[in-house]
Amino acid sequence: MAKPPPPPTTTLVWLRQDFRLADNPALTAAVARGGAVLAVYVVDDVTPGAFAMGGASRWWLHHTLAAFAASLAKLGGALILRRGNPCDIIPALAAETGADQVHANALHEPWFRANDRAIASTLQNAGRRLVRHRAATLFDPEAIRTKTGTVYGIYTPFARACLAGPAPRPPLPVPARVPAPAALPPSVALADLALLPKTPDWAGGLRDAWAPGEATAHALLRHFVQTAITGYETQRNLPAQPGTSRLSPHLHWGEISPHSVWHAAASIPGEGARVYRSEILWREFAQYLLWHHPHMPTAPLRAEFENLPWRHDDAGLRAWQRGQTGIPIVDAGMRELWQTGWMHNRVRMIVASFLVKHLLIDWRAGAAWFWDTLVDADLGANSASWQWVAGTGIDAQPFFRVFNPVSQSAKFDPTGEYIETYVPELAALPEKYIHAPWENPPMLQAQTGTAIGMIYPPPMINLADGRTRALDIWRATVKTRAATPP
Ligand code: FAD
Repeated sequence: MAKPPPPPTTTLVWLRQDFRLADNPALTAAVARGGAVLAVYVVDDVTPGAFAMGGASRWWLHHTLAAFAASLAKLGGALILRRGNPCDIIPALAAETGADQVHANALHEPWFRANDRAIASTLQNAGRRLVRHRAATLFDPEAIRTKTGTVYGIYTPFARACLAGPAPRPPLPVPARVPAPAALPPSVALADLALLPKTPDWAGGLRDAWAPGEATAHALLRHFVQTAITGYETQRNLPAQPGTSRLSPHLHWGEISPHSVWHAAASIPGEGARVYRSEILWREFAQYLLWHHPHMPTAPLRAEFENLPWRHDDAGLRAWQRGQTGIPIVDAGMRELWQTGWMHNRVRMIVASFLVKHLLIDWRAGAAWFWDTLVDADLGANSASWQWVAGTGIDAQPFFRVFNPVSQSAKFDPTGEYIETYVPELAALPEKYIHAPWENPPMLQAQTGTAIGMIYPPPMINLADGRTRALDIWRATVKTRAATPP
């Protein structure tokens, strides 16, 4: 009988946005081969181009790398760090360690896809292999197609098609051991990657709000399933309530897999768990759109909106970024973002609509600010959501729907609790004026110390005028398109 082949000496696991031991197909497959396993992460500021990581993402990355290295070490494993272009570094490291295979979980961002193609070919020329695994999404984006084989452009039939097929596979267990090679190649020290802010240290709010890492992700999921998933269908819209899972950065960084989240929610009966799963499918849809429309982060999915007459208004953009627009719910959201690196979904929609529709500032400027400041900055979710709000996507809210920030605020933050948390200078205002302080009679403004223009700015735009201007422009764009011969 023929002898079984000897186990490989070393297999590389190339991590990107998958800092977890549980349900990590690349890690599990590398361990299953036998032999030593070496995990590697490359800080890449080259190939993402304009989408190089923002400040909040770098902060998160530092801490998730530390947490992952510590839990990997408990299983006997090792993580090495490098900086540069992975197209050079990964093949060189494979040669240096004698690894015949590199395992990685596939991602949808265009630069990851392009790098994977280049690296697969370089490795192949050297007699090695890049083995990719599906892990970032529940479903293969190529497998979800309409009856005629086209790509879905609308969420509801997309979600229906996902649910009609086989259920997502159950999560994989944590490997028992991840044996590191006897000799490790050189690694850059985590501190030398300089991912944390230098002076001024703006990350205090992030430290208070978050604890990156796989253990926290699972604890948050458990807590959410035990306490908040029942009632999620209504509570999720109230920014002052802890009604959502806050798993978005953990999902983006792959500290927890969508499969783990899906199966935890699938076992819970009721409307809350059903709506929660539908939100996970929104994440899936955003990744699906990015896969099939790699230009989504930079160009409108509906080409007729390429020539919208955006205003170049640096002062307006700055006031929005700093939470100084004079519209309390918008300012509360933008200050929550700056302080904590996150913003409630309802408020994300309100602030995005205000920027794009009322101020007529290009959605790409808003998306870029989110990219820099969100700890969950995610190319698929961010660009699909901005296009949805701007009405430039395929499955967008209709262009004539312009969020009224005052009525949204009154409906979803009725007592003004959320506003008062982030715009404390308005805390003394009577509840009825907190959503639109400019309606507060001047006498009362003086008594409560909230005179408009003294401690809080006047609204930077008349909301009714802004709405009319936006509707005229969007309507004209749609008409021009209809009148243009194909
Ligand atoms: P939960 O309500 O607990 O939802 C669970 C998970 O479902 C989330 O963690 C997220 O992974 C997914 N999800 C929920 N809503 C959406 C959605 N609309 N689109 C895609 N996935 C969704 N989400 C990001 O993860 N990264 C972004 O960069 C991002 N940018 C956004 C920009 C704008 C303008 C808007 C309107 C939304 C954006 N979102 C983004 C979507 C959404 O706001 C966040 O996913 C959500 O607020 C995260 O909070 P949570 O984890 O408590 O959500």
